[in-house]
Amino acid sequence: MDDDTWSRVRARVRWIGALDAPREQRLRALGALFLRQKAITPIEPLALDDTQRTLLAALCCLPLLEFGEEGLHGWSQLIVYPDAFRVNRSHVDAAGVLHQWDDELIGEAWEDGPLILSWADVEADLDDPHAGFCVAVHEMAHKLDVLDGVLDGTPPLPRDWQRAWARDFQQAYDALVQAVDAGGEVAIDPYAAEAPEEFFAVCSEYHFSDPALLRDSFPAVAAHFERFYGPSPSA
Ligand SMILES: [Zn+2]
Repeated sequence: MDDDTWSRVRARVRWIGALDAPREQRLRALGALFLRQKAITPIEPLALDDTQRTLLAALCCLPLLEFGEEGLHGWSQLIVYPDAFRVNRSHVDAAGVLHQWDDELIGEAWEDGPLILSWADVEADLDDPHAGFCVAVHEMAHKLDVLDGVLDGTPPLPRDWQRAWARDFQQAYDALVQAVDAGGEVAIDPYAAEAPEEFFAVCSEYHFSDPALLRDSFPAVAAHFERFYGPSPSA
């Protein structure tokens, strides 16, 4: 990863430009490791140059600044669509009836398969870095969550911390679900109320892009993220 490429990435991604020197160095090392370990596959007509590949690697490694390179375990491919992509879903319900439908996604993280991103949405996040969105961080949060074998909103943590995390996240999640069910306005993206793992992933986006909103809404969750992800580059 040469200096010119890195300075172009740094100029494009304001979250990286805001890191202090030791954390930026750490991110650069993680990004280099990502580029060695992962195949980055653009889907036509998208093509990605070296700077764009380095940018994606660095962005995916932002949530690993404190957690470290173990966060890259268990998968080997980043697939990048030009824009939002359609996936075919199916589900057999309790009555044995098969339901099939199409979903339009901007990102997806398979349990032990690829991480998938929409390039147009990555760019939109970078254009407006304090709007509360970062699809790369969202999908990486799912990858961290599932490292212990269960996608439940809790990444692998030391035992005491894990207990406190589970308690605080459950409380915050319940309050959000209650507010959404009551039809009231909620400050964060209501998609977070879908499931505990979505709550973790959506709140992770706020940690990087709008930490003040997260702190106002869920101070205990914000405090766990300060420790888990380190200080927000948008603080
Ligand atoms: Zn998600």
